[in-house]
Amino acid sequence: MSRTDPILELRDLEVHFDTFDGRARVINDVDITVDEGETVAIVGESGCGKSVTAETIMGMLPQPPGEIVDGELYYKGEELLGDQTAHERVKSESMGMIFQDPMTSLSPVFTVGEMMRDVLTYQGKTNVGWLEIVRNVLGRRDADEAEMRDRSVELLDQLQIPDPEGVLDRYPIELSGGMRQRVLIAMAMLGEPEFLIADEPTTALDVTVQDQILDLLTEQIERENLSMLYITHNLGVARRIADRIYVMYAGEIAEVGTRDEILDEPLHPYSRGLVDSVPKLTEFDRDGIEGLLPDYTDPPSGCRFHPRCPAAMSGTCDVERPPRYELSSGQEVACHLYEDGLSRAEAAEIAAEEIEFDSGAAFEDRPTSEPAQDRSSVKGESAGTTASIDAQTPRSAEDTDE
Ligand code: SF4
Repeated sequence: MSRTDPILELRDLEVHFDTFDGRARVINDVDITVDEGETVAIVGESGCGKSVTAETIMGMLPQPPGEIVDGELYYKGEELLGDQTAHERVKSESMGMIFQDPMTSLSPVFTVGEMMRDVLTYQGKTNVGWLEIVRNVLGRRDADEAEMRDRSVELLDQLQIPDPEGVLDRYPIELSGGMRQRVLIAMAMLGEPEFLIADEPTTALDVTVQDQILDLLTEQIERENLSMLYITHNLGVARRIADRIYVMYAGEIAEVGTRDEILDEPLHPYSRGLVDSVPKLTEFDRDGIEGLLPDYTDPPSGCRFHPRCPAAMSGTCDVERPPRYELSSGQEVACHLYEDGLSRAEAAEIAAEEIEFDSGAAFEDRPTSEPAQDRSSVKGESAGTTASIDAQTPRSAEDTDE
């Protein structure tokens, strides 16, 4: 897939949260790029930091308790994290967000039409005072009202909402979950954004409605030539919608590649475990990833995945944080098993040889004297001859906060 200019670039993002248990280092050095007209998915298990990343991009991170400790966010080359006014302006003029739960994202006391009219009235405005609201209500002209209503009906119609005129006069509680989600998409599209963030917008829907919503969203993206960042834990949804995928684990990017690279032959042990965890009709015993996300107030040293990784190398993975190695194909993987410049075929061979999920393998209490595993054949001497890390005491479920 050929790449175009980036519309959005997130660099070295670090976000911490103050909690009763201490400072949680939730997002650690995250880089994400979305090109013009591209749909990028961030996938990972719940609690891995996907939504915190989305909130930071949208300027919606609650601060406190959150704090952006480091990082830069460029939208069409303009830096936003260091300039709140610019961030507000770009957000209201060019960005749209589709939220996860339509029931809590829509106001129960306003009709759909009233909410859509307010979006149209105040879009592009960063600070709206009470005086302006009163002035708008008192000075509302019938012609403007009719124009806004027509625009709302047009969008609801595009999203295949039956009787769009009637829906404008109804409250969210009177609509089904699928209809509410379509209304949320329509509201995100009202401001004619160039860049859309969708935070698990189909999670609360049944699979048939989810399928319809994804079709409608894809149509909108193509019709308006939008760029989109799609947050999901559902790999099937990522396959349906994404051009490229970022796999996120414990607040770090584990692997980046095209949809087919990540879903057909992932290289990072976590990505492989994630793909392997997807239930299949033909297989009943699936090997998944044992354990849970780490405690962010005391994350593991080195690679954050090492306590759960079946290929972990003692003395390396628990000590050194892996950089993101870039293969000759452009795919990037943050794992000590690989190195820069490997071809995909070489990397796939290493993955097939070294990564095998076997329920409980990473947690077996093996003696430290167990024969060491020699990885020098796959990655020069840097990985060295290592003892299995399985012998280390893993973080148990009770040790974690997720
Ligand atoms: S092999 Fe090492 S670096 Fe790679 S995912 Fe496992 S623990 Fe992390």
